Amino acid sequence: MIIKGNDMASKKTRPITICGYDVDFCKGNLKNLHIRVRKDGSVYVSAPRGTSMSEVEEFIESNREWLDSAIAKRKAAYACYSDRDTIMLFGDEFKLMIIDSPSNDVIKDDRCIYVRTQRDPELLIRRYLNTQLMPVAKEYLDKWTRYTGLQCDDLRTKYMHTKWATCNHRVNRIWLSTKLAHKPLECIDYVILHEVCHLRYPNHGPAFHSMLAVYMPDWKRRQDRLNGKISS
Ligand SMILES: [Zn+2]
Repeated sequence: MIIKGNDMASKKTRPITICGYDVDFCKGNLKNLHIRVRKDGSVYVSAPRGTSMSEVEEFIESNREWLDSAIAKRKAAYACYSDRDTIMLFGDEFKLMIIDSPSNDVIKDDRCIYVRTQRDPELLIRRYLNTQLMPVAKEYLDKWTRYTGLQCDDLRTKYMHTKWATCNHRVNRIWLSTKLAHKPLECIDYVILHEVCHLRYPNHGPAFHSMLAVYMPDWKRRQDRLNGKISS
């Protein structure tokens, strides 16, 4: 089984700081210099082989105004967490504390989740949620594939806003939304079974629902809890 998080940077890039911007940089077989601001507000710059760093700096300087506005716009649209927000982890409530520190890590006590960074806290929080979610999800997946005799070769996560999970039954791959880490364990358990049932039945027809009910008679209550319609 392959287990991957959602890694933003591709292998060919290297992180550097140019003109005060943290940039993923790569050189390749290109005609021109390119800047791209990704969805998370991170910046990617690619340059033709043989380009000098002063040419790259000049290019960035000449695009500074556009770059600042593009980063601000993307970050505002992307940010889901802010300092002193309430953040849920497996159904329990914590206070999110974003601390200006070079540690670049996330730690948790009984009441708070502390994000210590001088870079983008959003990325660190999402990675933390992934590392919390994955072992739990894998355990449930092992259970349900064993009980049903179905096979899932690939479990992955990404930050999905409108779906809890998706299943590609042709390649036996399940994608989970990182946001599931906020939800109670019994709801995550339900989502995994739901997707495992899709490995056999791609749609939501009667056969799909009877399979779900055989393995999890209270699936509807768990689904309602997942979607915030009931509290327990
Ligand atoms: Zn479904």
